[in-house]
Amino acid sequence: MSTTRTDSDTPQYRGRFAPSPTGPLHAGSLVAALASFLDARHQGGSWALRIDDLDPPRQVDGSIELITAALQAHGLEWDGPMTYQSLESDRYEHALSQLEQSGWLFRCRCTRATLSAQGACGQGCADRELAADEPHSLRVRFDGEHPHEFDDRFLGPQVLDSEAIPCDFIVKRRDGLYAYQLAAAVGDAQPQFNAIVRGADLLESTYRQRWLQHVLGLEPPHYAHVPVVSDERGNKLSKQTGAAALNMAFAEQNLRGALSHLDQAPPPESVRSASDILEHAIEHWSFPSGA
Ligand SMILES: [Zn+2]
Repeated sequence: MSTTRTDSDTPQYRGRFAPSPTGPLHAGSLVAALASFLDARHQGGSWALRIDDLDPPRQVDGSIELITAALQAHGLEWDGPMTYQSLESDRYEHALSQLEQSGWLFRCRCTRATLSAQGACGQGCADRELAADEPHSLRVRFDGEHPHEFDDRFLGPQVLDSEAIPCDFIVKRRDGLYAYQLAAAVGDAQPQFNAIVRGADLLESTYRQRWLQHVLGLEPPHYAHVPVVSDERGNKLSKQTGAAALNMAFAEQNLRGALSHLDQAPPPESVRSASDILEHAIEHWSFPSGA
C-alpha cells in the first residue's frame, strides 16, 4: 500500500478488524472486514488486525489460523503485527480502578435468573455493599450524563433511545473475564485506532462504549456501522448460529457478494483476481452519510 504522509492537521485514518477466535470467517464477517479495509485503504489509512480473545470458553482451537488464512486468501492484508486483547489486561484493570474511583462501579450478585429482561441488575445491588468475597460481577451505572448522540459516518446522526439501553451493564464478569463492552471501549480508543467500521448489530453497544470512553477520559474513535448479513430466516449470520465458513476457493465470488451487500458498484466482469477486485473497490468505495 502506498500511503503519503502529510503534515496536515487531519489525523491519518487508522482502522482495524477485530474478530473473535470463535470459528472461521463467514460471509457476515467478510462484509465487516471488507468494509473496514476498503474504508481505510480508500483514505490512504492503515488497517490493523486485532484478535478479540477475551472469552477463552468460547474460543475454538485453530480459529486464528483459519481467520488469517481467509483474510489473506481474500487479499485483505493487514498492517503491522497482529495484536491480542488478552495481552491488554493492565489497561482493563486501570479502567476498572478509574471507574471505581469515580463511583460508577458496583458489585452485582445477580445471576441470569435475577437479571432484568434487558440484562440489567434486578436486585438493586448498586445500593448495597456487597462483600468482595461474595461471587459477583462488576457493573457500571449507566444513568448519568452521557453522550446520547453521535454521528455515524455511514448512517448519519444517531440518537440514543434510552428505553432500549439498560440502566447498567457489565464490565467484568462473574467468572473474572473482562466484559466485551469494557475491552472494546478501551481497546478501540487506543491511539493506534481512530476509525471503527463494524456491523450495525453493534450500534447499541456503541453508546455504552462511547459512554465508557467519555467517563474514562479516552478520545473516542469515529464509528461507522454497516448492514449485517442475515440468513433466510432473518437472523444475523454468526459463528454461534453455525454460519458456513467462507470457501477460500471462491474468494473472488465472496468479495463480489460482500461488495454487493455493501451496495458498492460491482467491478466489471473483466476484473478477475481478488487483488484486482479489491483495487477497483478501494478506488470506488463510497458510503454516503445517511445511506
Ligand atoms: Zn444485581
